[in-house]
Amino acid sequence: MDAYKCLICFSAMQGPVYQVSEMMFGSGERFAYTQCPECGTIQQLSPPTNMGSYYPAAYYSFTGLSRSTVPVRWMKKIRLVLYRASGLSLFRPVYENWLHHLAARESDQIADIGCGNGQLLYEMHASGYKHLSGFDPFLAEPLRVASGLELFKLELHQILGTFQVIMLHHAFEHMRDPDASFAKLASLLQPGGRLLIRVPVSDGEAWSIFREHWVQLDAPRHYFIPSVTGMERLARRYGLELFRTEFDSTSFQFWGSQRYRDGASLSDRNPSKIPSAEQMRDYEQRAKLLNQTQKGDQAAFYFRKPI
Ligand SMILES: [Zn+2]
Repeated sequence: MDAYKCLICFSAMQGPVYQVSEMMFGSGERFAYTQCPECGTIQQLSPPTNMGSYYPAAYYSFTGLSRSTVPVRWMKKIRLVLYRASGLSLFRPVYENWLHHLAARESDQIADIGCGNGQLLYEMHASGYKHLSGFDPFLAEPLRVASGLELFKLELHQILGTFQVIMLHHAFEHMRDPDASFAKLASLLQPGGRLLIRVPVSDGEAWSIFREHWVQLDAPRHYFIPSVTGMERLARRYGLELFRTEFDSTSFQFWGSQRYRDGASLSDRNPSKIPSAEQMRDYEQRAKLLNQTQKGDQAAFYFRKPI
């Protein structure tokens, strides 16, 4: 009955079972998910063993980095300097908020686990960060992009070394075992190191509204969706301090889930399935309000390892 124990708190799973269709590509294949009555984590009951085949080449658009020319790299560096000096949001790169809360210095050893094609690390490299490592098992091949920026074709458990800063942007839920993954992440952190996990959460209103059509279930690629309580438990178990939780859900929870409920895959280009500009503005506004009340469908969790 191991498969029917919660992957995070190990309680027996006994809630209703939801049949969730693969909808990103619209294969229609179904996968069973259920929710832990104790900690609220949602998990897949019998994930496929050939998960790699659910990641066609198109999934992470491994089309290579969009590289900047030398003048554009300088512009990015200057933009970050301007942002730090002025605080003007006009100059704010998308990643600045994360790096600010992670207290990431340019000299820190920084890892992005589940880095896709490494675009985020590339942008950080252009802004002056000097020791960047990306890891992703679905990379076409390992790549030394530049001095101080390397991409490795490795799974989490294969990573060696330690880091001052580790980030996972929507990668944690793609790993089979959250308990073992979190233990490994804690071991990869240097004392005083910081860890950011951005992940969908089961506490959101979207799960209550859309259930098996909720776009962030992303069957079968997501093995589990943690709750805030589940993340707190992992932190306690492996001696990390959860020092900040920030909900960062978007309009995607509404338009993506609505599409799935209408039976349209994400790749369906039928114009009748595309929300109007006005509808999108409404969705954005609703997402913002949900984030303020901690009911958005995804969050950023910041952890610190004690010195
Ligand atoms: Zn649980």
